[in-house]
Amino acid sequence: MEVMSFEKLGLHTKTLQAIVEVGYTSPTLIQELAIPLLLKGRDVIAIAQTGSGKTASFILPLLDLLSRGRAKARMPRSLIIEPTRELATQVADDFATYGKHHSFTVAVLIGGESFADQEKKLTKGVDVLIVTPGRLLDLYDRGKILLNDVKMFVIDEADRMLDMGFIPDIEKIASFLPSHQTALFSATMPPPIRRLTQQFLNHPEEITVSSPTDAATSIEQYIVHVLEKDKRNALRKLIETQSLKQVIVFCNRKREVDVVFNSMRKHGFKTGALHGDLTQAARNETLRAFKEGTIDILIASDVAARGLDVEDLPAVINFHVPVNPEDYIHRIGRTGRAGKEGKAFTFVSPHEEKHLTLIFKSLDKTIPEFPLEVSSTGKAKKEKTLPHPKKPSHIKKETDKSATPSSSPTVIIVGFGDDIPAFMRAKGGES
Ligand code: AMP
Repeated sequence: MEVMSFEKLGLHTKTLQAIVEVGYTSPTLIQELAIPLLLKGRDVIAIAQTGSGKTASFILPLLDLLSRGRAKARMPRSLIIEPTRELATQVADDFATYGKHHSFTVAVLIGGESFADQEKKLTKGVDVLIVTPGRLLDLYDRGKILLNDVKMFVIDEADRMLDMGFIPDIEKIASFLPSHQTALFSATMPPPIRRLTQQFLNHPEEITVSSPTDAATSIEQYIVHVLEKDKRNALRKLIETQSLKQVIVFCNRKREVDVVFNSMRKHGFKTGALHGDLTQAARNETLRAFKEGTIDILIASDVAARGLDVEDLPAVINFHVPVNPEDYIHRIGRTGRAGKEGKAFTFVSPHEEKHLTLIFKSLDKTIPEFPLEVSSTGKAKKEKTLPHPKKPSHIKKETDKSATPSSSPTVIIVGFGDDIPAFMRAKGGES
């Protein structure tokens, strides 16, 4: 079979030069399929997950489209909507990488950040505006921005927008736009997203890319039964005994993120914290430090960590069992990306068994126990060790209770990534 090259996709030479410099040798499947359509001016619905190369699949053709005109004051020429601030920042970084030989201006408008600088840019005219929905509507309502010149509208991670309750905002934004081209990306296509595409897209071409890369995603999953009061102890022990060099630790609440962060720091671990109450500058700085390896352990809440792309992350630890099975999939999907191996450990205290049962049900599998000896500290307050959660009767017997990380794991998700089955979707949030 002929290997597809970026040259054959019809991209601008300046764009091709940046691609060579970033080191990509050939387009990923989503790029191969989406780029020619977008260059032709078609509306596109792309069912693709993070890790598929989807960001470049809209930025690269956008660079070409922008080469055909100039920005006017307060009127961005293209609009990219992202569900979280982190994703917005990530996309802006990617735009800077791929667009380094063009001279387009980008403004990022996200909640939690002062936007005096960004507003100055807007006043002069920007080529690309990357926003979270709330912040855009806020500016629009205050007359700070005009959307009359938007030629390309990108809705990224539409299903996450749905989880976060942003669909009415997206509908409102779409209704403000003049005639334009739309590209909508989503890992899944639940009915409200389907309706959105029917309402706002113009004869769209639909593309589906099933797995993040050609290689399958493999995540070894384990549970560790541990009393709530012993979890911090267990966390240190697990990280040390398994020599986990870079790990994201998920807590269910912001308050718990702070507690675990302080504890790990006190014990000398290079640790950072990420949750929605921290300033955007602090969140950006922590993420950068984690990606660069200045910190090894990132304690995070679900909302702050959604969609994060940390290259080669070897492990994820759920300090708490997520209440929604969907969050479990998002969390473990931070590791084992792009065909790499990853491990996901979940600490389960007696009162969390019910949430674990829900996860088993959604996976249609149980997860093997990881044998971690934790010496108990102090007295257990109202914590009883309960028997194992009841396995839903329809679940096949797959668990090998003697499984250890060195033996081959019994539960492996292949090619699951961020692709969440519709039945698992539930409204996410952060408390
Ligand atoms: P995304 O799906 O946009 O989150 O991209 C996932 C990762 O794939 C990012 O770290 C990109 O740098 C990388 N990537 C994107 N396109 C290519 C390509 N054609 N070849 C190799 N890596 C790529």
